Amino acid sequence: MNILLIGSGGREHALAWKLAQSRLCTKLFAAPGNPGIAAHAEPVALDSADHQAVLTFCEERSIGLVVVGPEAPLVDGLADTLRGAGVPVFGPSKAAAQLEGSKGFTKDLCARAGIPTGGYERVTGEAAAMAALARFGAPVVIKADGLAAGKGVTVAMTMAEAENAVLEIFGGRFGAAGAEAVIEEFLEGEEASFFALTDGHTVVPFASAQDHKRVGDGDTGPNTGGMGAYSPARVLTPALQGEAMSRIIVPTVQTLAREGMPYSGVLFLGLMLTRTGPQMIEYNCRFGDPECQVMLLRLESDLVELLLACAENRLGAIDPPRFSDETALTVVMAAKGYPDAPAKGGAIRGIEAAEQAGAKVFHAGTALAKGALVANGGRVLNVTASGATVSEAQARAYAAVDAIDFADGFCRRDIGWREVAREQA
Ligand code: ATP
Repeated sequence: MNILLIGSGGREHALAWKLAQSRLCTKLFAAPGNPGIAAHAEPVALDSADHQAVLTFCEERSIGLVVVGPEAPLVDGLADTLRGAGVPVFGPSKAAAQLEGSKGFTKDLCARAGIPTGGYERVTGEAAAMAALARFGAPVVIKADGLAAGKGVTVAMTMAEAENAVLEIFGGRFGAAGAEAVIEEFLEGEEASFFALTDGHTVVPFASAQDHKRVGDGDTGPNTGGMGAYSPARVLTPALQGEAMSRIIVPTVQTLAREGMPYSGVLFLGLMLTRTGPQMIEYNCRFGDPECQVMLLRLESDLVELLLACAENRLGAIDPPRFSDETALTVVMAAKGYPDAPAKGGAIRGIEAAEQAGAKVFHAGTALAKGALVANGGRVLNVTASGATVSEAQARAYAAVDAIDFADGFCRRDIGWREVAREQA
C-alpha cells in the first residue's frame, strides 16, 4: 500500500525508516520530509495545515495509510478531514487531541475519571490566577492551557517566580494558547514516559522511555525539545507499567470513548513517580521526539501492521508489539546556540563513519546546500545505538558521535546518566 508520512524531524526519520521496512509498504511519501527521510520516502511539498490539499494528494496517490508525526496538525483536525473522507489515518481526532492541546481539558478528564494527578485549578485571567496561587503556595506549577512548544510551563519554587509566570501568560506571551492557564500542585519524584497504542477501544502497552529536557550536562540550563533519550526506562518496572495502564491510560481511553471522542493513535503519557505511586503530568497525542527514535530501534514488529490496526479499529485482532530486550539510546547533536538562536548552515560530515561504528543516525534539522549536508534547525542529528545495558548503548552512541564532524554543533555527554549510575551502583 501507499503510505503518507507527515513531518520533517528526527521522529519522522525514524518512522520513515521503520515504515519502509514493512512488507505492507509499497511506496512511502513524506510531506515535507528531510534529507535523511529522502533515503526511504519520496518527498512531497504539501502544507499539512492545508487539510484539503493533503486529502487531494491521498486521493490522487491512493494512499492507504496516513501517519501524522507532530501534534499541531492533529490538534488542528487533520485526522478528522482525512477520516471523514475514508482515508485511514494514524492519529487522533481534533476532539481527542485536546489531551495535548488543552491542559485544562486533560485535568478535568482526570478528575472525572478518578485518575491520579496533581491538584489543580483552571483560571482565565490574572486576578483569578493570583488568587489560586495564594491558595496553593510555592512550590507550584503554572501552565498555559494550549500548545506552547514546551515553553508554556513554569515550575516555580518561589511565589515571585509563580507571579511572574502568571503575568507572562496573561500578558499575551503565548497568544491564544495562554488565554487560559492551569495552576497545579507541585509533584516530586523521577519522571518517565510511557507509550500505548489504541484504536479507541482496545489499548496495548507500547514501550517506556526517559528523556533529557535540559540543554546542559547534569540537567542544567534551559529546557529544550529533548537532548537525548533511552528505552526502556527500567525505573518503570512491570508493576508500575501495569499501574500506569490500569489507573491512568485505560480509564482515559474509556472515558474519551464513552464521551463520544474515541482516541485513535499513540498515547504518550508523562509520569511522575511519586512516593504514593505514578501520577499523570501530561499527555501528548503523538510519539515523543527523541523517544520515538529509541523505541523504534528496539521494535521487532511490523510498524505498518500496528499503525494500520489502530487506524482501522482492529488492534485487538493482531499480535501486540514485540521489542528487543536491548536498550537503545539516542544523543541529540544540536546547532550551537540552541535552544535560543541555533546557528544555521554548519557543515556536517562523517555520518557514514558513525553508522559503520554501529549506530543509526537519524536526521532532524538538516538540509542539502549545493549537495552538501548542513544544519538547518536547532536539533540536527539523533545518533542512536543499542546495547545490552544503558552503559553499553551509551558508549556506542558516543563513539558514533565522535565519528561525526559537525564543528558548529554540540551535544550533552551524559545521556542516560540516571540509569548508568544505577547500573554501576
Ligand atoms: P513538553 O515540552 O514535554 O511538551 P509541556 O509544555 O507539554 O512539555 P508538561 O510536560 O506538562 O508541559 O510540563 C513540562 C515539565 O514541567 C515536565 O516535564 C515536568 O518536568 C515539569 N512539571 C509539569 N507538571 C509538574 C508538576 N505538577 N509537578 C512538578 N513538575 C511538573
